[in-house]
Amino acid sequence: MSEPLVIVGNGMAAARLVDELAKTALGRYAIAVIGDEPRLAYNRVLLSSVLAGETGSHDIQLKPADWWRDRGVTLKYGCAVTEIDVGRRELKIANEESVTFSKLVLATGSAPLRLNVPGAELAGVHTFRDSRDVDLLLTLAAAKKRVVVVGGGLLGLEAAYGLAKAGAPVTLIHLMDRLMERQLDAPAAALLKSLVEPRGIKVLLDANTARILGDRRVEGVELTDGRRFDADAVIFAAGIRPNIALAKEAGIPVNRGIIVDDCLQTGAPGIFALGECAEHRGICYGLVEPAYEQARVLARHLAGRTSVYDGSVVAANLKVSGVRVFSAGDFLDGESSESIVLSDVRRGTYKKLVIADGRLTGAVLVGDVGDASWYLELIRGRDRVARIRKDMMFGRAATEMAAAA
Ligand SMILES: Cc1cc2nc3c(=O)[nH]c(=O)nc-3n(C[C@H](O)[C@H](O)[C@H](O)COP(=O)(O)OP(=O)(O)OC[C@H]3O[C@@H](n4cnc5c(N)ncnc54)[C@H](O)[C@@H]3O)c2cc1C
Repeated sequence: MSEPLVIVGNGMAAARLVDELAKTALGRYAIAVIGDEPRLAYNRVLLSSVLAGETGSHDIQLKPADWWRDRGVTLKYGCAVTEIDVGRRELKIANEESVTFSKLVLATGSAPLRLNVPGAELAGVHTFRDSRDVDLLLTLAAAKKRVVVVGGGLLGLEAAYGLAKAGAPVTLIHLMDRLMERQLDAPAAALLKSLVEPRGIKVLLDANTARILGDRRVEGVELTDGRRFDADAVIFAAGIRPNIALAKEAGIPVNRGIIVDDCLQTGAPGIFALGECAEHRGICYGLVEPAYEQARVLARHLAGRTSVYDGSVVAANLKVSGVRVFSAGDFLDGESSESIVLSDVRRGTYKKLVIADGRLTGAVLVGDVGDASWYLELIRGRDRVARIRKDMMFGRAATEMAAAA
């Protein structure tokens, strides 16, 4: 008889895990997936395109209903798991139903952070995480509401771009002195700012939110330096927090995320975690690629094969407000590294390659990202680059041509 395996969360990591399990452990498990969003798993990354009107909401579904059915997966969506009883190997669902498991996988993702400032609870304050949020933001934009987006990382920029494209006047305020400081160095961030501002987004840097103004509804935003802006709505896009409450209440060890070992197992035997809710060697990843690598390892482990996850080289290959951006590895200059930079601001292109100990260790590309996957291969492969050093800035084709000449 198949062993009951329950996955909590029906997001990107869960869908990829089922896909991998179907390839490696077909028939071994009776799989049930329980998710609280009221629809089949979808590509969350594409919510930005839905908001920007470039993709339809139904086109982002990861797998059709019969794909799940054909793999014998029991799907429960629109229901939240409220409790895990580790000893009795049982889950409780919001509707009081109980589900037993032999093995359990937590794939609960993250929740957007809401700033702890006065006014944060007012009507008109929203976040940008799921398809319900997108529906709401599209309504705001259609009504030409004045929107302040708090946060100049990927999510904030995507929210600002989508809203501006849909017709809303948008101000984006960011605490730091540059946009996307976790992925970009200062020149790349300055170029990005110059490319997004003509798209109808007013960008304010070094801007710290003091309070949201309004009586019952949002009427504006005040910064700590006293500046005030009128607004009908505020979107918090200033970070995420892994969803760990379920694990924590069940006594499963957590830190910022649910702590997992190199097999993605939590501190409770037979209970695993992956994706944005998991913390591996002190790191909670906020991108989809590490979640997919974890899914591959966990599926192999659940199939009884030896498989170890030893972390991911973080790479972001993004389209930010319509501008292509790639960032991987250690992209900031250090004492023991050197960098090669090619900057053509008029053409909207910036490339920086960082070399340490004779190897490519980091890269930032804005505008022209055609060779991103090659640079990532070089970083991940830890290849020595002395032979190609003078050509590699110009991309793979130019480097191979120079080598063949
Ligand atoms: C707008 C946007 C743009 C993004 N763009 C990029 C990008 O360009 N590149 C990139 O790499 N990453 C991007 N990301 C991040 C990427 O989407 C996430 O890294 C990825 O979705 C993580 O997958 P996950 O399965 O861990 O979490 P999720 O996809 O969030 O899935 C978790 C699911 O679990 C459900 N859940 C939580 N608690 C419970 C419970 N108690 N019971 C039942 N269900 C529960 C949640 O509702 C959710 O459906 C973006 C995210 C957003 C929001």
